[in-house]
Amino acid sequence: MTRQNEAADPPRGGVDPVAALIGACHHFATHIDVLADQLSAVGVVGLSADDAERVSDAITRAFTATSLASALTVGLRRACDDDECPHSNMLTDAEWARLTAGRIAVNARKATYSCELEPGHPGPHMSLAQSYGEHDTWIRWADGARELVDLALCPSSVILADDPEPCLLFDGHPGNHSYDRGAVPDDGGGPSPERGMDGVPGE
Ligand SMILES: [Zn+2]
Ligand SMILES: [Zn+2]
Repeated sequence: MTRQNEAADPPRGGVDPVAALIGACHHFATHIDVLADQLSAVGVVGLSADDAERVSDAITRAFTATSLASALTVGLRRACDDDECPHSNMLTDAEWARLTAGRIAVNARKATYSCELEPGHPGPHMSLAQSYGEHDTWIRWADGARELVDLALCPSSVILADDPEPCLLFDGHPGNHSYDRGAVPDDGGGPSPERGMDGVPGE
């Protein structure tokens, strides 16, 4: 994603990143609460088109940053059909750069990466980050742990004459092959923090 402007007070070296993240979230939320009170007191009638666009851009950036913070820590959840796992994740700019540097990559970057396993599956959540032909790189996450892993293709990824639909998962995946349970979920539902505003933790 493109940074529109640099943060005024980025975390400095030597600061515990978890404590810094929690502090930044509290700081952000407190400021929004104050601004919301001010806005509701004076009203926002007459907001110009330029101001509306600037506000929209700023909110989009804040939402993306919040989603990324959730993805890297407690994970994301999304609204989806009952036959899809609702957990999703994101890639950082640095991760995306590593995934595409010096290798022929197939997939374009997505805003969010949905878990592609069956709902209620055992083990960590898995979402395909990039394909290189002979193997794929997946985002693997569970219980606050998250990593990128290179995995061989599912043996049923080979297209056979009598079964023309390949499995899109990795070798050793739990559950059915992807073609036995319908399409892999798209990512149009939009992310939401796995632990929402009401503090309800994810599964
Ligand atoms: Zn999952
Ligand atoms: Zn398979």
